[in-house]
Amino acid sequence: MRKLPEALSAVVDQLSRLPGFGPKSALRAAMTFLRWPEGETRRLGAAIYDLRDKLHLCAHCGALTDVNPCSLCSDPARSRDMLCVTADWDSMLSIEEGGFYSGLYFILGGLPAATAGGRDDGADLERLDERITGGDVGEVVLALGATVEAEQAESLLSARLRRRRPDLRISRLAQGINLSQEVRFVDRDTLRQSFKYRQSLE
Ligand SMILES: [Zn+2]
Repeated sequence: MRKLPEALSAVVDQLSRLPGFGPKSALRAAMTFLRWPEGETRRLGAAIYDLRDKLHLCAHCGALTDVNPCSLCSDPARSRDMLCVTADWDSMLSIEEGGFYSGLYFILGGLPAATAGGRDDGADLERLDERITGGDVGEVVLALGATVEAEQAESLLSARLRRRRPDLRISRLAQGINLSQEVRFVDRDTLRQSFKYRQSLE
């Protein structure tokens, strides 16, 4: 391909890093921005800028929010007794869309992995420790999915939580969801069932 002008290649390089984008579709998208009326292209640029400027992570649950704590964490109608731990924000949204869960969430921002020394890593686990020691949480539901990594993370987390709060009820989603499925891809009815029949972890 002929060398692109620098302003264009800068956008194409960034866009081609998006999921589902390659260099060709990135170039097509960049050319579309150029064909748009100037105001629209500028609005898109400003909106992307605002993503970093106006959104941050809720200090309680880790969800993306423009108010802190987020509207869900500050909702007095949500039960404080139950904390649902998910790997990512998408998973939380899937559960929330189901409308069957009325407790609070904690988003890990990735699955913790056991390191060679048998220790867990990830700063967010310390946030989770604080979350379960300070508040009114009586039960933690680990909703990490049915992948091998998720199961390893669940054992690691339940052991860790148990050490800090021996009285805590810890459960995981029932295994109605297909093997190797991530929570964010599970349909609403299956999620509702696996929540209802969640299994207690000893
Ligand atoms: Zn929150």
